Amino acid sequence: MSQHATPSSSDKSATEFDAIIVGAGVGGLYALHRLRGLGLKVGVFEAASDVGGTWYWNRYPGCRCDVESMEYSYSFSDELQQEWQWPERYGTQPEILRYVNHVADRFDLRRDIRFDTRVLAASFDSADNQWTLQTDRHGAVSAPFCIMATGNLSTPRVPDFAGLESFKGNWYHTGLWPHAGVDFTGQRVAVIGTGSSGVQSIPLIAAQAKHLHVFQRTANFTLPARNAALDPSAERRHKAEYAERRQAAFNTPFGISGHPPPVKSALEATREERDAAYEEKWAEGGSISFLYAYNDLLVNKAANDTAADFVRNKIRATVKDPAVAELLLPNDHPIGTKRLILDSNYYETYNRDNVTLVDARRAPIEAITPAGLRTTEAEYEFDAIVFATGFDAMTGALLEIDLHGTDGASLKDKWADGPRSNLGLMMAGFPNMFLITGPQSPSVKAQMILACEQHTDWIVDCLEHMKANGMARIETDQGAEDAWVAHNNEVANSTLYPQANSWYMGANIPGKPRIFMPYVGGFDRYKRTCDEIAAKGYEGFTLTPAKTRTLADA
Ligand code: NAP
Repeated sequence: MSQHATPSSSDKSATEFDAIIVGAGVGGLYALHRLRGLGLKVGVFEAASDVGGTWYWNRYPGCRCDVESMEYSYSFSDELQQEWQWPERYGTQPEILRYVNHVADRFDLRRDIRFDTRVLAASFDSADNQWTLQTDRHGAVSAPFCIMATGNLSTPRVPDFAGLESFKGNWYHTGLWPHAGVDFTGQRVAVIGTGSSGVQSIPLIAAQAKHLHVFQRTANFTLPARNAALDPSAERRHKAEYAERRQAAFNTPFGISGHPPPVKSALEATREERDAAYEEKWAEGGSISFLYAYNDLLVNKAANDTAADFVRNKIRATVKDPAVAELLLPNDHPIGTKRLILDSNYYETYNRDNVTLVDARRAPIEAITPAGLRTTEAEYEFDAIVFATGFDAMTGALLEIDLHGTDGASLKDKWADGPRSNLGLMMAGFPNMFLITGPQSPSVKAQMILACEQHTDWIVDCLEHMKANGMARIETDQGAEDAWVAHNNEVANSTLYPQANSWYMGANIPGKPRIFMPYVGGFDRYKRTCDEIAAKGYEGFTLTPAKTRTLADA
């Protein structure tokens, strides 16, 4: 590696590393495990007090993964995947966090992680090929390689409502939930937001609160999860086939096995056939299976309408008050173009006497008041307000760090018109910095743990290649990055995705550039592209050998 990175690294001080990883969520932990395997001295810096990332922070009631537990787990260790037992079809947040902690212990990862440490800034010294990171607790730390495992949904966002500081009750953000939990018994509660976090938490908060007001700005599509205890015989079968299933998952568009790709257009089926197909998927539960009913649901609006109408009819059939049902009907985006939510008893919750749905589109929230909140139409009094208002997704965590690449160029300037990267793995002007599931990689459109593994494996292969060839520095060419961004946009624009005001588009943050951020060409196609680029000697990347220091460098 560089003249600073030696395999033994015994000469390094406590603040010098061969590689620094920012973040100890599922991505950072696997990166630590693999980089250690290269014999590198690795330092991980994590803002939280423990491992888990998303699953550390999001402790709101009802928080659960929308990917099935047998799939949403690491594939790198067969012992691990055989020994771990998931109790339910979809893992709850506590269960997934327990799993991540088990992985950290089983692979002895904690000793290299500095918790409660936020990385504030990072800058690259071109002469030395060295990244220096400023942290809030451990001063400056440095390494030739930097891996940003900062997550895609890790910057919670409370809208800029006037008066929040005046509120006399308690308020919470779903992504920053108190570890001790919250008891809403007997309370008047508001939930603002009806994305995945709102939809998952609303039924549980409603069951506890004296009265719950849900402030909905945009109605979203949600499907029944059909969560249940995992059937032991199904689990045994899955485990017996784990190796083949993981291999298969790497070759699917979403990184999830068990869903044969559809071959037929929704428009080729009769109405009766379609309804029977959607009914079967509705009963089965799960979003991929539903969107896989036909092959054109995400690319053809007329096809999409057939699935959207089916779900709208289900909402009408479930919610007893027709006016409430009408308000819950999503009508401003094709189904699946925003994250398709999975729920347990969401629509049924609006049949409860203690739940009121408020149309925050017709009457937007104007301010938080000492007693509650005010919309353009009315004043409300609450003991607690829950912000299920989402995240500065995909770019927020990286842009919170004052990042500077070659010649001091800042990431904020580079991304002023939206994120740009090559493969979501590297950014031109930021040598030796790798992103785990960065923008323009499949990331949130794939099974995230597999996506993290795929990125890390690519990075580890790259570092091994560099070591074998005496290279100290790798950076993506500007042309390759431009071509990848153009390809990313072209693929997104051939689908219905850009039609939705989603966080995929940056649309949930006022002023954020509108660019479709995840790669939707398919995880399988993406992985093949990454592998081909590596096989061609890292085509589109420039690798530079370690140089001997000369007086001119001093
Ligand atoms: P989200 O999908 O961005 O939803 C935020 C909600 O807050 C939206 O309903 C939004 O309305 C509303 N909102 C924002 N500002 C508002 C305002 N000023 N007034 C009224 N309403 C406002 O965030 P999320 O629910 O936290 O989910 C984010 C992502 O995290 C999900 O899409 C998913 O990928 C992931 N997630 C996954 C799971 C799971 O695995 N099951 C669970 C939770 C989260 P508008 O739509 O009108 O902007």
